[in-house]
Amino acid sequence: MKNKGWLLDMDGVIYRENHLIPGAAELVAHLVESGAPFLFLTNNSAPTPSDLVVKLRHLGIAGLSARHFYTSAMNTADFLAETHPSCTAFVVGEAGLNSALQEAKIPNDSIHPSYVIVGEGSPTAEKLIKAHELIEKGARLVATNSDYWCPVKSTVTRPGAGALAAYLEASTGQRAYYLGKPNPYMYFRARRLLHRQTHEVMMVGDTMETDIRGAIEIGMQACLVLTGSTKLGDLTNYVYQPTCVMESVAELLAELKGESTDRMKSPALAMQQPTPHHGGDRIPSVNPVASRPRPAMTR
Ligand SMILES: [Mg+2]
Repeated sequence: MKNKGWLLDMDGVIYRENHLIPGAAELVAHLVESGAPFLFLTNNSAPTPSDLVVKLRHLGIAGLSARHFYTSAMNTADFLAETHPSCTAFVVGEAGLNSALQEAKIPNDSIHPSYVIVGEGSPTAEKLIKAHELIEKGARLVATNSDYWCPVKSTVTRPGAGALAAYLEASTGQRAYYLGKPNPYMYFRARRLLHRQTHEVMMVGDTMETDIRGAIEIGMQACLVLTGSTKLGDLTNYVYQPTCVMESVAELLAELKGESTDRMKSPALAMQQPTPHHGGDRIPSVNPVASRPRPAMTR
């Protein structure tokens, strides 16, 4: 665990419904104090890193700066700046996406853009119609992430960037390219940001389809926490499995402090064993109850 770098998802890991998850503030404080390299890795392309600093400060986590955040908007800007430096873009998104593109020196273009870029937000019908027209004229469609919906409260969701991109895919017949988690490029760039400080990185997230899938596909360790969207009983539905499963970041903090000895073992493996592993049953009982049918979070 020593000298390990950390990529932390936010919603469902650090907070839920504008409430900190127990142990989150203490974990971040521990990482800051110990000098462990870490980044918050979020698919939400609407806020800027500075916005996220303020959000976490209001929730009770201080001592952070913009450099601690890497968003899908920044990932999209990095990708286009690296693969097509002279490109222009028509943006369907919020401040976080606009500022990331500005930082990457990708100009706005509403006449003949190289790309229509779709992020989180609530665009007007006029904006979507304009995006449709530009794609029909030759612009390529890019989305900051593939999330169809995003959690607002435990029983409330909102449409995500993936849903907006799907709208334009349907109207134009053009397929979007999706950045953000689980695209390995998100992890590649985030790991590069941590590389000067460490070579071993672990992703901590609450969603199998995004957080865990992308990490596993790039060969990175992945820790699933059960405080968000994925329940323990869901794990058997996936081909890929997290390196470890924890009830919350409070367990991760205990591990980092040396207060626990075997919580980094994979409960996915333990689940398949007929009896609990030595040390007692640390796995919460599985009682998956579907509140209502919902489409997959991401494609
Ligand atoms: Mg999450």
